Amino acid sequence: MRPDMILVHYTGMIDAAVALDRLCAPGSEVSAHYLVLEDGRVIQMVQESRRAWHAGESFWAGETDINSCAIGIEIANPGHDFDYPDFPKRQIAAVTALCRGIQTRNTIPPARVLAHSDVAPARKQDPGEKFPWRTLWDSGVGHWVDPAPITEGSTTLVLGDRGEAVTAIQDLLAQYGYGITVSGSYDSTTHDVVKAFQRHFRPQRVDGMVDQSTRTTLEHLLAQRGRVRTLAARARDFARLAS
Ligand SMILES: [Zn+2]
Repeated sequence: MRPDMILVHYTGMIDAAVALDRLCAPGSEVSAHYLVLEDGRVIQMVQESRRAWHAGESFWAGETDINSCAIGIEIANPGHDFDYPDFPKRQIAAVTALCRGIQTRNTIPPARVLAHSDVAPARKQDPGEKFPWRTLWDSGVGHWVDPAPITEGSTTLVLGDRGEAVTAIQDLLAQYGYGITVSGSYDSTTHDVVKAFQRHFRPQRVDGMVDQSTRTTLEHLLAQRGRVRTLAARARDFARLAS
């Protein structure tokens, strides 16, 4: 397939050298197109036209073979198992520039720059709630709306709930692309998907419970998604206006 998605990961290894070894070892059966080091250096490991093994069992918007449609970027960060340090500014600047290039070369829709946790919510939490999606958005990468403020005491939906309100939120999450069955039952999959959604789009609180802020943020994303232009389209518009 032609790549039409960027999948962002952290390495989850104690340091970048260990991650590099693992990504180059045939026996580990894991690979990615790019590795971005803490100091901003970028190592290309697989050509963009080739398939790499970074997504594993995953789903987005009807697609299960994510490895065949996604460019994988591994960001050197030890992750949640090793105190999860902040991403250095230089590293984020390098990731942003890399994504801009990939978006332009491959025509990636903004809303298809995703976290590994978005496509595998039950298994993965990378790149995690510290990854600054807002910063990337400000440079024309990915999809973002400002999260609706958290208001204490708003009605929440939690694991075990049933009914129309659960059906409604499941339907919205499925519309956005998440792998969720619209059953009306707030099962463990729903909990995991809500957590993944929050990790990406409402990182102030990642608890797997649907409060008003979570619901409103998701509604805003859906409403805005059709209007977000790719960088290439924006550049064409600009060129037309300027001529
Ligand atoms: Zn990953």
